[in-house]
Amino acid sequence: MGIDERPKNAERAESNVLHLMEGMEHEQVMFFNDKPTGLKGIIAVHNTTLGPSLGGCRIWNYAHEEDALWDVLRLSRGMTFKSSISGINLGGGKAVIISNPKVKHDEAFWRRFGKFVDSLNGKYITAEDVGTSTEVMRIVMQETKHVTGKPVEAGGTGDPSPFTAYGVFLGLKASVKQQFGSDDLSGRKVAVQGVGHVGYYLVKHLTQAGAKVYVADINQHNLDAVVKDFGVEVVAPTDIYGLEMDVYAPCALGATVNSQTIPQLKCSVIAGAANNQLANEVIHGKMLLDKNILFAPDFLINAGGVINCYREVQHLSELEANMLIENIYTKTLEIFKKSSEEKISTQEAAIKIAIDRIEKKN
Ligand code: NAD
Repeated sequence: MGIDERPKNAERAESNVLHLMEGMEHEQVMFFNDKPTGLKGIIAVHNTTLGPSLGGCRIWNYAHEEDALWDVLRLSRGMTFKSSISGINLGGGKAVIISNPKVKHDEAFWRRFGKFVDSLNGKYITAEDVGTSTEVMRIVMQETKHVTGKPVEAGGTGDPSPFTAYGVFLGLKASVKQQFGSDDLSGRKVAVQGVGHVGYYLVKHLTQAGAKVYVADINQHNLDAVVKDFGVEVVAPTDIYGLEMDVYAPCALGATVNSQTIPQLKCSVIAGAANNQLANEVIHGKMLLDKNILFAPDFLINAGGVINCYREVQHLSELEANMLIENIYTKTLEIFKKSSEEKISTQEAAIKIAIDRIEKKN
């Protein structure tokens, strides 16, 4: 309570929510606030045509409320495309909590979040993301059944990263096949940027397949682990873009494929786990096309994690979920075919296929 004066224009960017929702075609956005626990955030439901919306809960220290809003709108829309192109019956949703991800929040905080999720009656299903974990989901599940990514002991499927990494590996192989005529990775030079949860398992698959792997990370502990376990070569984070390599695999941050990095890239393929790798879908998708660098759309090849969540929702066996993940190989080739036939970027081709499935269901 207590606001009795209407904020001035500059201070009320959040009042443009409906305008943004219209532009990005969101169905519903819920803001939540709980004074006793300090919980505040936003849940965005983008599209539920194919099924309930599902997407992780991200906790981040957003500088401005608008940044949180923009993030949740963009990420939930990405989830719609990801689930659609993966052939699973889920829509796109996402939750963001505005807080410092390094602060450990107590049970009351996460239970309150669970109650907010539950108030949407299954229209949004949550999961882990940046700053949340399977352990957090164990608390959230005390207040709602609309939660995935639970620990194995609690009936969930645990850490999704190995599944994500397997899908990325298959998408990467399909890209190599498209560009070089064979998906044999032996001797292929692959640079993996970020060897955290997903990067670690990707490096494992790549070294097992005989690739020559280079890694870059800002976390020494994570670098030490991959060097010790797989004997890979470390390069400085700033040197990775200019490396003589066949494949660049971004597995750290989004937007690393941009106007500054594209001119430096000497690779033939970009295929990695990071979400939203293209800083600008249109501009950078086209720049890659012109430079004959094949881009494997991230929202397709990193879908192993969401497929694993779907496995929890639908009570699928691990085998059934793996079959869905294995489709990533064929889907990736399908996108490349469409891109070359229609002379559009691979990102555009992937979005068209994702939208097409939703429109046909309508
Ligand atoms: P993570 O936090 O475990 O690992 C990220 C790694 O990147 C860390 O080791 C970090 O130190 C490193 N890093 C950060 N900045 C860097 C920089 N400038 N240069 C080099 N390395 C840097 O995250 P994760 O779970 O492995 O996810 C990796 C990416 O994949 C993220 O973008 C995430 O959104 C995306 N993703 C993950 C999953 C999943 O199942 N975990 C699913 C889909 C998409």
